[in-house]
Amino acid sequence: MNIILLGPPGAGKGTQAKRIVESMGLVHLSTGDMLRTAVKNKTPCGLEAEKLMDRGELVSDFVVMEIVSERLDERDARGGFILDGVPRNVIQAQMLGEALDEKGMSIDVVVEIIADDDALVERIGGRFACGECGKGYHKEFKRPEVEGVCDRCGSTKFAVREDDTPATVRNRLKIYHSQTEPLVQFYEKVGILKKVDGMADIDEVAEQIENAIKGV
Ligand code: AMP
Repeated sequence: MNIILLGPPGAGKGTQAKRIVESMGLVHLSTGDMLRTAVKNKTPCGLEAEKLMDRGELVSDFVVMEIVSERLDERDARGGFILDGVPRNVIQAQMLGEALDEKGMSIDVVVEIIADDDALVERIGGRFACGECGKGYHKEFKRPEVEGVCDRCGSTKFAVREDDTPATVRNRLKIYHSQTEPLVQFYEKVGILKKVDGMADIDEVAEQIENAIKGV
């Protein structure tokens, strides 16, 4: 099963993708995570991407699609994958379609997670993650069980994403509406789009996604 998770920043794509990966054994391909790793490792692609990411702007379609295409060539992707954060615009969707055709692969379902902008700004504004294992938390909705200690790995180091500031979040939402949202129509026309309510609680969204996938 090959899936695209579509939705604005903060809608829960990463969280839901991790759950689907665990339950279905798919490869999780998050372009945001791949680019953050490239920035951390100061690779040429990371150096090019860093400033754009800090401002919430999109990185070049060619750079992104090259890393996606390379990752899809790895053997484990043959067993199914979930794309999180890509495609981000119609050009990327077209490039992805061509790359998949060449590889003899295709997308089975696109799940759109619908969420409200104001709630997203509030959600993103409070999020932070373990600096060691990356487990995600939220100041109000999901604090560690023991204050200051990661539930998963016990680390006491936490980090906030550079692009999670209110101004950058607003810019990311603006870009989502102008560039990424047209993909809803794009995939609706292809006939593979399913919608879920991203404002429901995490378990309920997961259940809705599971049902959407089951129906394919
Ligand atoms: P995300 O973790 O998906 O919110 O992505 C964080 C940032 O990485 C975005 O704001 C963009 O700067 C960049 N990025 C991630 N995926 C893409 C993509 N498919 N195309 C262009 N830029 C991307």
